[in-house]
Amino acid sequence: MLRNELVQIKTELPGPKSKEVLDKRKKVIPSAVGTDTPAVINRGEGAMVEDLDGNIFMDWVGGIGVPNIGYSHPEVVKAVKEQVEKFFHTQINVITYKPYIDLAEKMNRIVPVKGDEKQTFFVNSGSECLENAVKAARSFTKRNEIVTFTNGFHGRTYFTLAMTSKVRPYKSGLGVLPGSSHKCELPYIYRRPKSMTEEEGLNYYIEKLRMFFKDTVPAEDAAAIVIEPVVGEGGFIPIPIEYVKELRKICDENGILLVADEVQCGFCRTGRMFASEYWAEAGAAPDIITSAKSIAAGMPISAVTARKEIMDALQPGAVGGTYGGNPVAAASALKAIEIYERDNLAGRAMEINEICTARFEKWKAKYQMLGDTRGLGAMLGIEFVKDRETKEPAAEENQAIIAECLQNGLIVQEAGLRENSIRFLMPLVLTDEQLNNGLDILEKAMDHNIK
Ligand code: PMP
Repeated sequence: MLRNELVQIKTELPGPKSKEVLDKRKKVIPSAVGTDTPAVINRGEGAMVEDLDGNIFMDWVGGIGVPNIGYSHPEVVKAVKEQVEKFFHTQINVITYKPYIDLAEKMNRIVPVKGDEKQTFFVNSGSECLENAVKAARSFTKRNEIVTFTNGFHGRTYFTLAMTSKVRPYKSGLGVLPGSSHKCELPYIYRRPKSMTEEEGLNYYIEKLRMFFKDTVPAEDAAAIVIEPVVGEGGFIPIPIEYVKELRKICDENGILLVADEVQCGFCRTGRMFASEYWAEAGAAPDIITSAKSIAAGMPISAVTARKEIMDALQPGAVGGTYGGNPVAAASALKAIEIYERDNLAGRAMEINEICTARFEKWKAKYQMLGDTRGLGAMLGIEFVKDRETKEPAAEENQAIIAECLQNGLIVQEAGLRENSIRFLMPLVLTDEQLNNGLDILEKAMDHNIK
């Protein structure tokens, strides 16, 4: 069975059948869509992907962060088939269907937002749920300004682009972005000012945050602070819990809503169903949580969850759309969440963390160019530098490591504004043997490309 295999590369990459499709791809779709992997998928199971040429890859990207439960989980496939046989579509505001309602009920039970009475609505993508969180925050607070962070990523629609940090490839050349979105400096502890200890660095970023509301955005005009509990695209950077507590305090003192963007870090990735559970335990639960990606094991659906009082501020008809909360996607999400809970995939994320962090310790002793290793649960990142003192980014070396991993059958991807980090987003269902297989491939690529 493919799901139990290890990596096997049998042809040059891309293999001949994949190459034919990739060549056609270049002609028929715009290069703006972008591509990384020298293969065309035939099928996927668990963490493993077979291409058209019979090569077997291990996927640690999961396009991107979607199959925490693995490719083609048989119970999810069954749930999807059963729903497809009944009906594909109605649109919730034309005819109500049970999967939407059951999924909302389930999300209200598991999503750790502030408040007792919670509500959830569904849209299609990560970007769309962020757009809608902004709508909810503005309607509730009757204010305009949205605060986000450097290194943050919230999507590719025009407003979420304005909230996003990376200029290339996301924003340049696309014209004027909507206003009323402002970026505060992210507490990126590894890249704190050089003279500072970690603790001093944290205090430095907290002070920057306080000053931000004095020199950039008046707190009384801010509708929401939106932050990823572990910054994904921007470098796999966990937000220190002391910083989150400060965010909560500023929000409480000034009537601002705190929004946790859990699009990439939700659904067991960080060792909890939601990373915001760590926040809630520290007394700093967010007001709104946006989630997507692994929610439905690959079907397109995303969610906005908040207390009823916030949702009530939105006018009837203000949110939604033709496909939002599609019945097949909702059925897939219901089954996926049932499995996350039943199989304790959050616990599995912690086991993956242990195996990886033990290997990281070895790597840190072995490679001077491994500047930082960080993360929460199985949302892990490693950052390469030319020199540990100067922390000059080693972007070319990082690209070479990734390219070599791909050629050897491990699909990994970079993260971060400096293009010198690798993200770990392996399906949580992979076996220990597969995990070690992947770590070995990565280690070999580091042997060849860094000191
Ligand atoms: N927020 C975060 C944290 C994300 O990682 C992403 C996607 N990488 C998005 C929003 C946007 O999601 P989508 O691509 O589904 O629009």
